[in-house]
Amino acid sequence: MMKYNYLIAGAGLFGSVFAHEAMKKGKKCLVIDKRSHIGGNVYTENQDGINVHVYGAHIFHTSDKEVWDYINQFAEFNNYINSPVAYYKGELYNLPFNMNTFYQLWGVRTPEEAKQKIKEQTSEYHNMNPSNLEEHALSLAGRDIYEKLIKGYTEKQWGRNCTELAAFIIKRLPFRFTFNNNYFNDHYQGIPVGGYTQIISRMLDGADIMTNTDYFDFIEKNPDIAENIVFTGMIDEFYNYRFGALQYRSLKFETQRIETENFQGNAVINYTEKEIPYTRIIEHKHFEGCDSKFTVISKEYPCEWKPGAEPYYPVNNEENNRIYEKYRKLADKEKNVIFGGRLGQYKYYDMDKVIRSALDITDGID
Ligand code: FAD
Repeated sequence: MMKYNYLIAGAGLFGSVFAHEAMKKGKKCLVIDKRSHIGGNVYTENQDGINVHVYGAHIFHTSDKEVWDYINQFAEFNNYINSPVAYYKGELYNLPFNMNTFYQLWGVRTPEEAKQKIKEQTSEYHNMNPSNLEEHALSLAGRDIYEKLIKGYTEKQWGRNCTELAAFIIKRLPFRFTFNNNYFNDHYQGIPVGGYTQIISRMLDGADIMTNTDYFDFIEKNPDIAENIVFTGMIDEFYNYRFGALQYRSLKFETQRIETENFQGNAVINYTEKEIPYTRIIEHKHFEGCDSKFTVISKEYPCEWKPGAEPYYPVNNEENNRIYEKYRKLADKEKNVIFGGRLGQYKYYDMDKVIRSALDITDGID
């Protein structure tokens, strides 16, 4: 007799929703994670009353009512609206690009004036057939927006010049001709009061959990532990890189406590000039409106991924997608292994999409 119905590798959102739903159907689950804690990238850590988003700012947003109702079972959400600000050489601009941004850039006051200005800015690039991201962004937004708000940020994010990046990375640039700084268009949005870790902990209630446990070592020693495997780590690592390694972008976070009540007046400030090496500063207390005499900030530095570093973003260019397809074909043939989440499926997923995907898969369990 095997001890568990499911061995779930990865205590992130995918693994935890999967475990929760499988347990509701009477299945026994063992959840392991190589990190020292549960939660994966949504992990938050309470530092003297401030919930710190240890792996970067996580704002829950969705238009999927079922997913919104689902996540709300595990925590109360506040009415936080993400309204980032961009800092460029001492100037501040509202994001996403909206009437406030256009006023700050050009002093235009009406949507008509803003549209006219964008038309002027893009006119010289209209007939261009963009061959890289720079040309594509210029043809969509014109010189001012590109230089001040896109170029430096994107080059830091990807570690390459915009002229060397593929045009497809920016599909479109949403311009809003209203004075609306809400970054997302989704119907529901918020931050769980008390942080995300409690959500994961409630989802995993009833499962056996082992942290500091790497799947590959564990399965070698316990090959018969479970009937099925749910794997949410890197799919290329699972297959021992036999078709080559997939590429990722990584991030470094520099987190510090500062003895001031309010450091920057907003949860998220993007630094869009190239000379400043980080892309964002997150001031965590603003997510939940925490009342304290001190604050905690994190600077976010994008960097190249190397084995051993945290893989944050898949680099979905043609070559990597081609390699991934080969791994996916192998995965499709597995009878007792399910690959899920952002690393198992080599895809950038927002939290709501990860929950949706885990719910759809567990729907099929009888
Ligand atoms: P993960 O959370 O990465 O969980 C996978 C787990 O598997 C990890 O804990 C890892 O340690 C473990 N693991 C890997 N390999 C092994 C192994 N060999 N053995 C054991 N364990 C292993 N989404 C939003 O909706 N809103 C946001 O604002 C937002 N902001 C983000 C900001 C950043 C910087 C990043 C990187 C992502 C953001 N996301 C956001 C996306 C969100 O983080 C993901 O949707 C979600 O965390 C994915 O869950 P997951 O379970 O697939 O992966």
